[in-house]
Amino acid sequence: MSLKVAIIGRPNVGKSTLFNRLVGKKLALVDDQPGVTRDRRYGRARLGHIHFDIIDTAGLEDVFDDSVEGKMRQQSEIAFEECDLAFFLIDARAGLTPLDNHFADWLRKRKKPVYVIANKHEGRGQDAGLYEAYGLGLGDVAPISAEHGQGMELLIDIMLPHWEDYRDKQRKARREGDDAVIDDDFEDDEEIIDDDAFPSFEIEYDEDDDGEEEVVQKDNSKIQLAIVGRPNVGKSTLLNHLLGENRVMTGPQAGLTRDSIAVDWSYEGRPIRLVDTAGMRRKKKIDDRVEKLSVTDTLRVIRYAQVVVIMLDATNTLDKQDLTIARMVIDEGRALIIAVNKWDAVKDKPGVMQALRDKLDTSFAQAKGIPILTFSALTGRGTDTLMPTVLDIYDIWSRRIPTSQLNRWLAVVAERHLPPVISGRRIRLRYMTQAKSRPPSFFINSSKAAELPESYTRYLINALREDFDMPGVPIRIYVRSSD
Ligand code: GDP
Ligand code: GDP
Repeated sequence: MSLKVAIIGRPNVGKSTLFNRLVGKKLALVDDQPGVTRDRRYGRARLGHIHFDIIDTAGLEDVFDDSVEGKMRQQSEIAFEECDLAFFLIDARAGLTPLDNHFADWLRKRKKPVYVIANKHEGRGQDAGLYEAYGLGLGDVAPISAEHGQGMELLIDIMLPHWEDYRDKQRKARREGDDAVIDDDFEDDEEIIDDDAFPSFEIEYDEDDDGEEEVVQKDNSKIQLAIVGRPNVGKSTLLNHLLGENRVMTGPQAGLTRDSIAVDWSYEGRPIRLVDTAGMRRKKKIDDRVEKLSVTDTLRVIRYAQVVVIMLDATNTLDKQDLTIARMVIDEGRALIIAVNKWDAVKDKPGVMQALRDKLDTSFAQAKGIPILTFSALTGRGTDTLMPTVLDIYDIWSRRIPTSQLNRWLAVVAERHLPPVISGRRIRLRYMTQAKSRPPSFFINSSKAAELPESYTRYLINALREDFDMPGVPIRIYVRSSD
């Protein structure tokens, strides 16, 4: 009596890809096992510390004939009968198709738990299908990228209550010797300490077809921190100060790029990975002392990081290039901290600070309250504010707000400042959920979404930031209509 999950969805949404990711490359696929039909695959999946059996209904394209819908339905039916819960996959890029709706109609009538998963959601610009999927009437939607291993923590969230239920039943059955319930494959998570249990929680570089490196950001309990800035602002000085004697050089590692460097350390018990800082790289190729940071290099570092510290020289702050980098950090949805070094050399401290604050708040209205730190890496004065700020902003960036709380809030703010009236009827904000964190991203279902002015969305973002205390991180709100 194992815990079974069926992956259901039309062809090409990424079912096999998700199956392979969850089963892991190291484990043999069970395609060729006797007795297993070629229309369904079975595998043993791991997600963090939990494990379960997974049934994939892919391969149905092979049996394409004039009754493909019927055939698919039949296969899905068998898989669905067997499972405890189902992942219903849709393609976040392509949006919903009639076949998706057909599946949804069928699934809605069933009693088993079904979770909508919007696959191929690698980031910006691929949200169409995600928000359409809320309209399926199957509850919350989890955006993931099976190919890149993103959003796996959302699948863990989904699985956790089912896993705990199953685990408790297994423990009980073992205590009582109830053979009918005992699953020989059950591994109590308390006994799992093997690092291999976390296959999809590593940072990974992929080689694109064109040979260009593509950095894949994956979930990791470590905080991935990057410190970037123009040459000579004091990055190396700061790093030496921060790391002190505790430094552990861990790169270049197999799989990482040739000249990338990561340093693993911990701050107050929190594991930190300091990624690929330009300051450290430069030490390796001292001749290559370019005045500019290359945009591709910087973008690569930013994508690799979760929190990015842009370091400035107090005697020469925030030029166009720094602003460009800050813009990239926010556009990529990362948490940003501005660190002004060489504060010891500044005379008009309040003046410099005010100018900086103004420039940041006007340039980056969508991430108001970006933390600005001032210190001297040389003397160490003020540098002790850096890591607490990193931890704080990481937590804000990862924040999840319960749906019930959001909806109470939405009612209040929409009352405080009414949405506009369009051709005689006021736009109605119906409900709100948090689509994902990192950065906090929200979905609002509203009437006439296309008519809701930008300024109103900005009002909502500012209020959300204020009321839920989320300074300095990008906040995204998507407004969609279901009618
Ligand atoms: P299935 O027919 O539902 O089993 O879909 P497949 O797993 O065979 O995937 C169909 C196509 O989508 C393949 O070309 C995959 O490489 C691609 N694909 C799967 N997952 C992702 C993803 O997360 N992002 C992107 N961009 N493509 C994906
Ligand atoms: P990087 O190129 O960003 O790694 O910069 P370095 O750490 O090599 O520092 C560049 C120069 O700035 C060195 O001469 C440092 O001594 C100097 N420097 C670094 N931090 C400070 C500081 O807090 N105050 C002052 N006055 N100088 C600093």
